[in-house]
Amino acid sequence: MKNYHTHTFRCKHAVGEVDDYVRAAAAKGITVLGFADHTPLPGHPWSSTRMSCGELPGYVQAIEKAQEEYPELTILKGMECEWAPELNSFYQDVLLGEYALDYLVLGCHFFYHQGSVFSSHLDIHDAEHLAAYTAYLIECMESGLFAFVAHPDLFGLTYLEWDQNTEAAAKDIISAAKELNLPLEINGHGLKNRPIDTPQGRRPAYPWLPFWELAAEQGVSVVVNSDAHHPGQVDQGLREGRALAERLGLKLAVLSHLGGG
Ligand SMILES: [Zn+2]
Ligand SMILES: [Zn+2]
Repeated sequence: MKNYHTHTFRCKHAVGEVDDYVRAAAAKGITVLGFADHTPLPGHPWSSTRMSCGELPGYVQAIEKAQEEYPELTILKGMECEWAPELNSFYQDVLLGEYALDYLVLGCHFFYHQGSVFSSHLDIHDAEHLAAYTAYLIECMESGLFAFVAHPDLFGLTYLEWDQNTEAAAKDIISAAKELNLPLEINGHGLKNRPIDTPQGRRPAYPWLPFWELAAEQGVSVVVNSDAHHPGQVDQGLREGRALAERLGLKLAVLSHLGGG
């Protein structure tokens, strides 16, 4: 089993240090464990749910130490990133350059619309905001910095009913992923911890089934990750997510260029 999306205590809403996740992963038969904690953002206001720039060296050192101590596991250095054009050089020169991270994950938790910042978790209630999220997500995807897109269907948290707007959003995201050859993530955290009640009944907020049915039709590749925020969650949703992919005929992405095989 492989998981490319693991947090640590540094993001202020997860618990556990790198070593705690590695031990849990080894006990659960995970062979590739990628860390992708929330990136620090120099000069940005979105600081309450992520590490500070000062914590970056400690994060990287903790992963490198684990790589030495657990040679039987493939342990990778990644980061889950918001994107904005002014962050390109930080990602390229500092994270991928200076700190030699193995990969960056796109996690679009905020988006810009008409000069304001909106939360992808809280603010996508209508067609206008859904379209703005979609357009911004695709712009982020086009930056070329990312190995895959975390929870692209995050809008399922607040946009409750599948309709022509969600269908259009999904089709746009999926065709961009296909064009850019960028895998989309089936997110175990959403699958296991984010049930919501809708007029059609209870469902996981994300992954939202009709999104992935469309993804299967278009033949995009997917990656299944736990998005663990607690060491005990290191494998959450991995089996269920893979079963979902298999049932829908989605092909699993090969991320061997990250060192994971
Ligand atoms: Zn995320
Ligand atoms: Zn995450």
